[in-house]
Amino acid sequence: MLLGSIEAGGTKFVCAVGNENYQVQDQVQFPTTTPEETLKKTVEYFKEFNIDSLSIASFGPIEIRKSSPNYGYITTTPKPGWKNTDFVGYLKQFFKIPVFWTTDVNGSAYGEYVMSTLSNEKINSLTYYTIGTGVGGGSIINGHLIGEIGHPEMGHVLVKRHPDDLKFDGICPYHHDCLEGLVAGPTFEARLGVKGSQVSPTNHVWDIMAYYVAQAMLQTTLTLRPGKIILGGGVTNEIFVKKIREEFKRLLNDYVQVPDLERYIVMPSVKNNGSATLGNFALADKLLKI
Ligand code: ZN
Repeated sequence: MLLGSIEAGGTKFVCAVGNENYQVQDQVQFPTTTPEETLKKTVEYFKEFNIDSLSIASFGPIEIRKSSPNYGYITTTPKPGWKNTDFVGYLKQFFKIPVFWTTDVNGSAYGEYVMSTLSNEKINSLTYYTIGTGVGGGSIINGHLIGEIGHPEMGHVLVKRHPDDLKFDGICPYHHDCLEGLVAGPTFEARLGVKGSQVSPTNHVWDIMAYYVAQAMLQTTLTLRPGKIILGGGVTNEIFVKKIREEFKRLLNDYVQVPDLERYIVMPSVKNNGSATLGNFALADKLLKI
């Protein structure tokens, strides 16, 4: 049996083929250019394999309601050229196999959930955030993806502003100073005029950003009570996660009990950015077992 995985990111696509043990048999990645070129490359890749089912974890927002005529589309994305792209419909022309369609962060959250159930950890509810070019979050609750009228958009929640950051307007084209507008990768350049990679770990901007991310963790903790919160994405690093834990502890103020923060707010368990690929394999496999 062969399972297909597409992690469709705003910067790059990662396509992979896995076996029934969810081990990667082959993998390729290429930059996300126009929908025409990128989807064509994707089809060409999978034509080399005889996959039984496929799961796509895509940047969004996307339409996940099967009852919608736009099911399978990338919808209101600000990414140039990709608005209203019929992703699933395009692939279905070439592959007559079951296809699962979800968001990139849902795919990653599912991969972390699978990893947890395969290990001794056995956490059934968790939330995965990515902090990179954009910010997104997905949750698995009791082993299931959530959302009725759409998928969660946890990156666009509103947060209380840091007193040292009031002059910064935020960069979200929809909400200005939502979480994404205040902590996504491009905010380094917008605030400081330099790329994130050039910002010292001791720069105060990290404290400001940790304050915002910790607020989102607090809301998630209070709303969903997940077993753990995972932080991935290019902006995330160990020093930043440590700051976020400290801010979170201060904000929670022992109101409710959470696991030891070293185990509760963590970086991904699946190595080499493989969470979404593992999640896709498991979701593609599930399609064959329904
Ligand atoms: Zn926003």
